[in-house]
Amino acid sequence: MYRKNVWSQLSQDEIQQAMAMGDAYRAYLDESKTERECVEASVRLARNEGFISLEEARAQGKLQPGARVYADWMGKSLIAFILGAQPMEKGMNILGAHIDSPRLDIKQNPLYEEESLGYLDTHYYGGIKKYQWVAVPLAMHGVVARKDGSIVKLSIGEKEEDPVFCISDLLVHLSGEQMKKTAAEVIEGETLNVIIGSIPLKGEEKEPVKKALLQLLKDSYQIEEEDFLSAEIEIVPAGKSRDMGLDRSLIAGYGHDDRVCAYPSLKALTDYSGTPERTLCCILTDKEEIGSVGATGMASHFFENVCAELLDAAGQYSELTLRRMLIRSCMLSSDVSAGYDPNFSSVFEKKNAALMGYGVCFNKFTGRGGKGGSNDANAEYIALVRRLMDDAQVCFQTAELGKVDVGGGGTIAYMCSKYGMSVIDAGIPVLSMHAPWEVISRADLYAAYKGYCAFLNCPAMDL
Ligand code: MN
Ligand code: MN
Repeated sequence: MYRKNVWSQLSQDEIQQAMAMGDAYRAYLDESKTERECVEASVRLARNEGFISLEEARAQGKLQPGARVYADWMGKSLIAFILGAQPMEKGMNILGAHIDSPRLDIKQNPLYEEESLGYLDTHYYGGIKKYQWVAVPLAMHGVVARKDGSIVKLSIGEKEEDPVFCISDLLVHLSGEQMKKTAAEVIEGETLNVIIGSIPLKGEEKEPVKKALLQLLKDSYQIEEEDFLSAEIEIVPAGKSRDMGLDRSLIAGYGHDDRVCAYPSLKALTDYSGTPERTLCCILTDKEEIGSVGATGMASHFFENVCAELLDAAGQYSELTLRRMLIRSCMLSSDVSAGYDPNFSSVFEKKNAALMGYGVCFNKFTGRGGKGGSNDANAEYIALVRRLMDDAQVCFQTAELGKVDVGGGGTIAYMCSKYGMSVIDAGIPVLSMHAPWEVISRADLYAAYKGYCAFLNCPAMDL
């Protein structure tokens, strides 16, 4: 059960590759502050590597083995494929990850002023420690859909010359009562109000700051107040990711959960050259942080529908073929693992915790309590995955999220395993998961990429 530190296993050449992969990932992460931006960045990456949309491919005729295609759904979820030489009913090798991250969403009626400060009201998305989101620079990303059908894209707070936004915290001098509260109550959900301006409109008696801000929005973005009704504006930490540590071995940034798994999953697929035996697939899905619900989440029929479309475009569709293709598929459901944190060792069981820098991490179980809500990867399947990793000399580890009964979490694994396919959770350890700035190791990113590449050659399971 001896585990190896990835850095100590890598040659000088591989260390350079790990560093370069971290740099490329940072660029992808910095472009991907929201799920929509992540889909755009992923489509760009895929198109650069010869992928075309499923509609474009259909227009060119019947799909042939080796075809590289993708389909997106509402600009928030993306599925990409490389068609295999075998009939698709033999199953696929699937890499899956989610691309939504915890954040603050602007409410539908968000704008107000109090004592000459202009605010946007928010409602948080996903599991956050609310106190972490105050007194830090924030950026505004998203889309506003106007009544006429046109879309305005917003990204404010990322460029050096951009303004940023902020939620104020109570000064420590007056925090006697606040400091006695539990961490869950120190900052309440309705306190997460973002300051966006303070200059009043001259000559206005009523709500002059709000009026001035509306004027600004109209002049700069042609947005009316009522357009907030049909907007998706996300407040996220401002600024680019950063190298962390004197040795630059780590990366600090917003949204590693789960773009740090999405990137190597997509990269492994797009770097695959030639025609594979089995059809290869990469799923980048939305809404995992709130239970994978909704039209763009993994629980929607989007994945299944796209598989049906793919079969049809290749002249192989039947209801039975679709079911066989899904049940005979093998999948790595990649989501971040809780990195073992020596500062908080009491919540971990060290033998079964993910260590930073010890490689891609497989979780047989997720869920909470008696494994409620978990996918449970079959022992036979884990044996196959182990063999693939060892043959490709990939550093890997196994873990549970924390000590038994301390907490828990879910992934998209159980939604894919409902088709009967073989699925295991695989991912990259993260420190400060769901904090505005999370931390990952470049070594783990590199190991995951190598592991995902090896997995794409997964043979069919004996069922
Ligand atoms: Mn996640
Ligand atoms: Mn998460």
